[in-house]
Amino acid sequence: MIPFVDLKAQYASVKDEVLPAIEEVLSSCQFTLGSAVAAFEKAFAAYCGVEHAIAVNSGTSALHLALLVAGVGPGDEVITTPFTFVATAAAIHYCGARTVFVDIDPRSFTIDPSQIEAAITPRTKAILPVHLYGQPADMKPILEIARRHDLLVVEDAAQAHGAEYDGVRVGSLGDMGCFSFYPGKNLGAYGEGGMVTTNDAERARVICMLRDWGAERKYEHVLKGYNYRMEGFQGAVLGIKLRHLEAWTEGRRAAAARYDRLLAGSGVPTPEAMPYSRHVYHIYAIRTARREAWQAALNAQGVQTGIHYPYPIHLLPAYADLGYKRGRFPHSEKAAAEVLSLPMFPELMAAQCETVAEAVTRLARADRLVDPL
Ligand SMILES: *Cc1c(COP(=O)(O)O)cnc(C)c1O
Repeated sequence: MIPFVDLKAQYASVKDEVLPAIEEVLSSCQFTLGSAVAAFEKAFAAYCGVEHAIAVNSGTSALHLALLVAGVGPGDEVITTPFTFVATAAAIHYCGARTVFVDIDPRSFTIDPSQIEAAITPRTKAILPVHLYGQPADMKPILEIARRHDLLVVEDAAQAHGAEYDGVRVGSLGDMGCFSFYPGKNLGAYGEGGMVTTNDAERARVICMLRDWGAERKYEHVLKGYNYRMEGFQGAVLGIKLRHLEAWTEGRRAAAARYDRLLAGSGVPTPEAMPYSRHVYHIYAIRTARREAWQAALNAQGVQTGIHYPYPIHLLPAYADLGYKRGRFPHSEKAAAEVLSLPMFPELMAAQCETVAEAVTRLARADRLVDPL
């Protein structure tokens, strides 16, 4: 069996470092925030090349607080894409604002900058590009549009720790960056976690208050805040894992390069790394019109796959109230129908990539025999 992700392999490789760090949290009893979280914030800010990083309890909380601090509230609009995890739109909804979708560029799976300006209205407050699958959105034109229209840019970098745009790390490109440390993400906690990054000291200060009940000092609540604090255990684990992130990212990039090579000439569309990007391959998604059949066949051969994501948000029942109809975002809808995520994790071995690529190539060949094009 080749799993889609293998968290056990990674735990085995860091167990000797992680256990004493967890024991330290236990003996210090700093279970929420505390010195391990503060140390991780400092290290993560340096990793992203920003002045401030504020740890919270999930990527969703990070998005929620970043949007609040961007001034997003009832009556406002935030522009993003429908081809993302539901949390992106949920965070906009939590602020009482309206989600305005713009279709993706089908080559990169990220927001198409050429369609953003048509979606801007007097109510638009922010643009929320998603660095989907570990590839940065095309930030240069996005930042130019934002500057022209006086909008803030909040990056959804939940899938893109360490990804770079023209050599600059995500999380430092826009006004704020939001990361998730959900266990399956490129940098994963042993539980839930998230982070907001920014170079703006005042925004950082307000986010620090909002994550901890809006208190300036204990019991002095100057804002209506939230319980979004990061747990001490997660800060300790993430601080250790961050030291390995670059090596793990190179493991992912090597596996992706191997897939690219093995699938070249198979006729199967493989992910395109755009010229501006250091892609960190949270997801390696191929495309096929016969996705469900391929997924079943691969599963029968012991190859686990995933689908990220089977529905664009505008077609989900929960977001039907936004009023978008099928056909409105054709590239997102086509991607949602065709993408299939191959096994991808840093410890994926060359032989495993070969097994997966051979199985995919056989499926593509069999399809051509049935339906030659
Ligand atoms: C995982 C994810 C989130 C939410 O992060 P959580 O830590 O699960 O709350 C937001 N946006 C995207 C694109 C994600 O992949």
